[in-house]
Amino acid sequence: MTQNAVGVDFAQRLTENPTTAERRAAILEDPGFGNYFTDHTAVIDWSIDAEGRGGWHQARIEPYGPIAMDPAAAVLHYGQEIFEGLKAYRHADGSVWTFRAEANAHRFNRSAKRLALPELPPELFVESLRQLVSVDKEWVPSGEGEALYLRPFMIATEAFLGVRPAREVSYRVIASPAGNYFGGALKPVSIWLSEHFARAGHGGTGEAKCGGNYAASLAAQLEAEANGCKQVLFLDPFNDNAVEELGGMNIFFVFTDGRLVTPALNGNILHGVTRDSVLQLAADRGLTVEERKITIDEWRASVADGTLAEVFACGTAAVITPIGELKTADGSLVSPDAGPESVAMSIREQLLGIQTGTVEDLHGWLTRL
Ligand code: PMP
Repeated sequence: MTQNAVGVDFAQRLTENPTTAERRAAILEDPGFGNYFTDHTAVIDWSIDAEGRGGWHQARIEPYGPIAMDPAAAVLHYGQEIFEGLKAYRHADGSVWTFRAEANAHRFNRSAKRLALPELPPELFVESLRQLVSVDKEWVPSGEGEALYLRPFMIATEAFLGVRPAREVSYRVIASPAGNYFGGALKPVSIWLSEHFARAGHGGTGEAKCGGNYAASLAAQLEAEANGCKQVLFLDPFNDNAVEELGGMNIFFVFTDGRLVTPALNGNILHGVTRDSVLQLAADRGLTVEERKITIDEWRASVADGTLAEVFACGTAAVITPIGELKTADGSLVSPDAGPESVAMSIREQLLGIQTGTVEDLHGWLTRL
């Protein structure tokens, strides 16, 4: 048992077959993204007692491995599931830190509400990360641009086929060493405009981080790949084709007059932690930031009249990535190549610096694990 500030005991059952140091070193040479997993997992169960009160219990660290689940578990049928994604960074002195973990904890709870899942106290969310990283800390890479990606998730485990919120739920965290998301050196990416598929609808689950949203984006993703693109851009066809977000990243536009514009949080798009951080860092620099509706027609017009300076995408996995081209079924919109002096690259450097401990953390965004 390991007691902690949250007052919850995490039982520890460590693996009898840990990855060898040689194997781990080989993995950390070139981890890619999402390919390998550390030796342990954090788990906390939730259920409703006889009096109808829900509660979290049996917090524990256990060996990483398959989950035994009843075939009738609600998650397998109705997709009652949510997840999060954040990273643990190794600083030069060897210490390990997360970036804005409380923001992920709060977003997790917003998602939980939307999917009728129980909320997890944010301190317990952060503590579960700390407990997992403390047993798997050798897995936190130290190379440039590398980190340990943390994937908390919550699934409805109750065996019941009626459609109602499950009364048994499991929260888990797994961790995966991560290198460069898109592979290779950072260069502008091409994205595909999805014109047949929408990702979200008003009143739907767009701003929740639930598995179903990602399953629904895959057909568009296949279309993107068939057209040589790595990500998809989704529009809102019921709102003048307003730009929403990419399959897994938020989007920003920089105009030649210095304005930085990103789609407003309208219920359809994810409240990106990177998005919010970019808005803050841009405001700190005195840039004018606008969260508002921006349509595909405005994008086209601003390329045509030369007022668009940069387009970039942002998210935890790939930080900030310039978008070089928007490919569509009838031609492509090429963004100017703003190069290393761009707003995108400059904010990227600052953000990476804060995360990795080389730039002062003026906003108190880091938490030591
Ligand atoms: N939009 C979507 C749909 C995403 O999956 C993600 C990744 N979590 C983002 C935006 C970026 O969010 P964040 O900056 O919190 O990683």
